[in-house]
Amino acid sequence: MPARLPVVLSPTRSEDRNTCGRKHVLKNILDRHKYRSPSADFGTVMHSGANHWWHGIVAEADPHKLLIEATEIVEAKWDELRPTGDKHSKDMAVRLMQYYPQMRFAGIMPGEWHVAQYNGQPMIEQRIELQVGTHILSFQVDRACENDADDIAMIDLKTAARINAYWHRQWELSPQMKLYRLGLKQIFPEARRITLLVEGIEKNIPFKFDYHTCPEWSSEQLEEISMQWQRLAERDAVLLELCTQQKGTIDLSLVAHYALNGFTDFDNKRCWDYGMECEYLDLCKADVEHRVGLLHSDYDVIPVEGY
Ligand code: SF4
Repeated sequence: MPARLPVVLSPTRSEDRNTCGRKHVLKNILDRHKYRSPSADFGTVMHSGANHWWHGIVAEADPHKLLIEATEIVEAKWDELRPTGDKHSKDMAVRLMQYYPQMRFAGIMPGEWHVAQYNGQPMIEQRIELQVGTHILSFQVDRACENDADDIAMIDLKTAARINAYWHRQWELSPQMKLYRLGLKQIFPEARRITLLVEGIEKNIPFKFDYHTCPEWSSEQLEEISMQWQRLAERDAVLLELCTQQKGTIDLSLVAHYALNGFTDFDNKRCWDYGMECEYLDLCKADVEHRVGLLHSDYDVIPVEGY
């Protein structure tokens, strides 16, 4: 019997799964990586400050004091993660945090809005897990607001190198955004209207921000993305079942073996994503028989079993 099925898969991870299955298994199931994306780390730094800011706003804290605290949190997170490369700096993170409270979606969503509650908690940086088919869709809500007319707005904070026409165009077909909408419809079945806003901050001084309002995809379009997501989750389920031992735990060495020997699909279109080399390139370049050994020697220790 499988150890931990149904599979739990987030929208971001399902996009990894859909593009390079090998990268997904190594990164998201085996969690073996020695390299983190500087952009993702920078996003995490900013999220930590925004999270504190919005919790304080809900608690009606003094905004001046709150901003000082949020900035200290951003600095501490920066020191912890230290995003590499020359595109980001601690000074940029601090200045961006101080700029952040200027952002309001009032121009786009008129009227009075307050942070929505879910499971008795303000919906700020909340992780949600929902059953979709036989697997679990897991996603993080950065912030959800509601008004007195039972409208819900979910705001997804993204830092970006450029906020331009391309940035706006990418959301219309975004599987991640469609899955968010699918999940929100389950969480807020009574909502009159659910709006998904992508809150983009450009990481260039002087900063600028913009909002993108996602389309109201039809039920059929959401069903389509749901079926695609379930097929992707099913691939994880097949792999994990194959590696399940009699006592019910997963043999992670076997998962590594299947990820690296052609059983798991891979796609070399992701090897230089955003101009950065995939952290597993050395593994993929190596001859098949050497890959598992390389994974063990260069990518931390793989526990024998787990999941
Ligand atoms: S190097 Fe390319 S093929 Fe190998 S895991 Fe990374 S993206 Fe996939």
